[in-house]
Amino acid sequence: MGNPKAFLEIHRQEAGYRPVHDRIHDFGEVEQTLNTLERKLQASLCMDCGVPFCHWACPLGNKAPEWNDALYRGDWDLAYQLLSRTNPFPEFTGRICPALCEKACVLNRFNHEPTTNRENEAAITEMAFSEGYIMPHTDIVRNGKKVAVVGAGPAGLAAANTLNHLGYAVTVFEKNEAAGGLLRYGIPNFKLNKAIIDRRIALMEAEGIRFCYGEAVDCASMVAQHMGQYDAVCMATGTPVARDLNVAGRELKGVHLALELLAQQNRVLAGKEFSADERITAKGKDVLVIGGGDTGSDCIGTAHRQGCRSVTQIEIMPKPVEGPDDPQNPWPNWPRTLKTSSSHEEGCTRRWNINTIEFLGEDGKLTGVKVQEIDWKPNPDGGRPLMVEKGKPEIIKAELCLLAMGFLKPEHPVYPDNVFVCGDAQSGASLVVRAMASGIETARRVHEYINSKS
Ligand SMILES: Cc1cc2nc3c(=O)[nH]c(=O)nc-3n(C[C@H](O)[C@H](O)[C@H](O)COP(=O)(O)OP(=O)(O)OC[C@H]3O[C@@H](n4cnc5c(N)ncnc54)[C@H](O)[C@@H]3O)c2cc1C
Ligand code: SF4
Repeated sequence: MGNPKAFLEIHRQEAGYRPVHDRIHDFGEVEQTLNTLERKLQASLCMDCGVPFCHWACPLGNKAPEWNDALYRGDWDLAYQLLSRTNPFPEFTGRICPALCEKACVLNRFNHEPTTNRENEAAITEMAFSEGYIMPHTDIVRNGKKVAVVGAGPAGLAAANTLNHLGYAVTVFEKNEAAGGLLRYGIPNFKLNKAIIDRRIALMEAEGIRFCYGEAVDCASMVAQHMGQYDAVCMATGTPVARDLNVAGRELKGVHLALELLAQQNRVLAGKEFSADERITAKGKDVLVIGGGDTGSDCIGTAHRQGCRSVTQIEIMPKPVEGPDDPQNPWPNWPRTLKTSSSHEEGCTRRWNINTIEFLGEDGKLTGVKVQEIDWKPNPDGGRPLMVEKGKPEIIKAELCLLAMGFLKPEHPVYPDNVFVCGDAQSGASLVVRAMASGIETARRVHEYINSKS
């Protein structure tokens, strides 16, 4: 902690987003960066608290006080060394982590101006790449053991990276044509430029990890057929099944799962071509997004960039509390308050307590969605609150409707004891930082298991 009075003298400064009129016409990252001096001042806000709740809140246990101090002192190399001890891919979390650490920061409790850990993380990592502090480790001592990782999302990548550094020969099987999982085929480019993933994968390949793409592994038969080839297998297959909405009219053209739009758009930006019939686009359409979470918000930003006429987002649950604090889940916990993303700022009608009744159409194409305002009443028998209708149903005009209602938690068979499940595949849909933490933890369990056998 270079400046013990910084928190009294300096205000939190976020780099902010590119102006709406500028960013809305392209898929480039919306977030801007501070200059080096401003970034160092932001790092000085960190007070190296006696009990640093940021460690506790970050699933990776990132040591923010240590690397913020190195950053404040201008030692970017040391800052990256400290950061990368706990975080294998800070260029991902630095862009798209919701920053659980910042909500738990003591300064957030004090004046709602927590240290800008997430942005600092991204700045340290970009500086480390541009200054050449990040080079592939080519001196890894191999231990003669082999591990297969199924799935190249953040969990699989973190597991593969940890095992590779421990000396295992790691092969990653990925059903898609490139690595990243939802980083690549879910999260839009305006939040995470895919060149950032390519850069990391190139490093991992240079360190000896083998990636096999287009390999949809049938987990059960892989275990049966290939187990002899590997000492252990990590299943990091995510949550492949999205929650659907099987009400009348679901088959109409124009009703899609959110990921159908998001994954296709990211593939288009990567150069893939789709026929007019396959292409899902919001161009010139009124768009309805069902689901008030982050995936829904990514659909809104994508619809804007595709040139939609309007976007409405509806959510069946009540509107979250506004303001920085959540009385139901107080500091240092994550506040379940209303979040307004960069995509919401670009324009969107947001409504809560809205249930979907039916998709309406003409000639097989969606024209609108019948919805009903509802209320939630306490259940006299206890348990889930009861949904009661309010007023009359109404029709929201829409030619494109995107279902962003979450993902089903996968069920797994009982695998042999050298098969380990991690990431969203194990926890259900969560966050990139949690998937990475789970991948690292699972790699350590694999290591313990193999050591115990040999
Ligand atoms: C639209 C969207 C936006 C999100 N935005 C954020 C965000 O901003 N911040 C954040 O922290 N989190 C975000 N998340 C959540 C985050 O992306 C996930 O929690 C995280 O990617 C989970 O990592 P994972 O590795 O467990 O699974 P995934 O990322 O889903 O990766 C699983 C991989 O396994 C592969 N696979 C599956 N089955 C097989 C098989 N049989 N054989 C071979 N390969 C297989 C898949 O193709 C995929 O590449 C978002 C999620 C979505 C859907
Ligand atoms: S990974 Fe997320 S929670 Fe952890 S220090 Fe970085 S921004 Fe904070």
